[in-house]
Amino acid sequence: MDRFTRATEIDGKQFATGLLERIKAEVEAVKAETGVVPGLAVVLVGEDPASAVYVASKHRQTVAAGMKSFEHRLPAETTQAELLALVNRLNLNPEVHGILVQLPLPAHLDPNAVIQAINPDKDVDGFHVSNVGHLATGNPALVPCTPLGCMMLLKDTLGENLAGMHAVVVGKSNIVGKPMAQMLMNAHCTVTVVHSQTRNTAELCRAADILVVAAGRAGLVRGDWIKTGAVVIDVGINRIKVDGKSRIVGDVVYGEAGHARAITPVPGGVGPMTIACLLANTLTAFRRHHTLAIAA
Ligand code: NAP
Repeated sequence: MDRFTRATEIDGKQFATGLLERIKAEVEAVKAETGVVPGLAVVLVGEDPASAVYVASKHRQTVAAGMKSFEHRLPAETTQAELLALVNRLNLNPEVHGILVQLPLPAHLDPNAVIQAINPDKDVDGFHVSNVGHLATGNPALVPCTPLGCMMLLKDTLGENLAGMHAVVVGKSNIVGKPMAQMLMNAHCTVTVVHSQTRNTAELCRAADILVVAAGRAGLVRGDWIKTGAVVIDVGINRIKVDGKSRIVGDVVYGEAGHARAITPVPGGVGPMTIACLLANTLTAFRRHHTLAIAA
């Protein structure tokens, strides 16, 4: 077997472009049906440059999808009370169907209190305990965008039916690992979650039909951790120096994964899906609000 030539590259960029086109068409349709434009509010507190780039990109793509974008840039000194008051105003604003507070927040602000203050029906990040609970109990929920994007790529690669597959998730963060595991369980996979304290991580990964890696550790997953024919989703985004130049790489050594059935590249795999899924969630929140049918 040639270990290094078979894996199909899962093109997240292309998938996300198609998803954004479908969202744009749906936005037109719901506007025509209800006379109301779906709206997404994004709140940025402080000057974190990476967050500012994400927020600008979210604004651009929201407008491109035909939705209303409400951007709130607050100074770093904003108090908890001021931020909660803004969230409350957005909760009450009928033009806003989705609310996202960009994380991380400056250290003096409590992100959990802010997230729990968002109306769960507008919680397009899927971080509110109400949505976390609905996901855990297998009920309709607004779910976190990155694992939602991973599920879309998995189903596009493997088909809708993932039942009975052994999925291993590396990482147990609230943002990626835990909701990913819940979604895979809800899709009737057998799910193993490994983390930094797991004793036999390599052996567990080798048993995976589906391997989702979200550890934030460049080069963690080597070729011999991957079963032949597995589908590998690399969520990791790590900036490393190669020959003095800065490069973005995932958590999986891509060049050693040729014996996988398919793998997401970094960049160009999961990354482009996240904002597209944010807009998909905003549309879902809008549809629920207007009691329109939810697209599958
Ligand atoms: P996080 O909160 O730091 O969580 C990392 C998880 O990985 C933790 O559960 C940790 O275990 C586990 N871990 C760390 N080292 C490990 C090791 N050697 N073996 C096994 N597990 C290990 O990170 P996150 O927010 O989930 O993000 C993970 C990665 O995905 C990062 O690179 C991030 O940049 C990327 N990401 C990408 C997107 C995207 O749009 N593509 C979105 C979100 C995140 P413990 O719990 O035991 O500490």
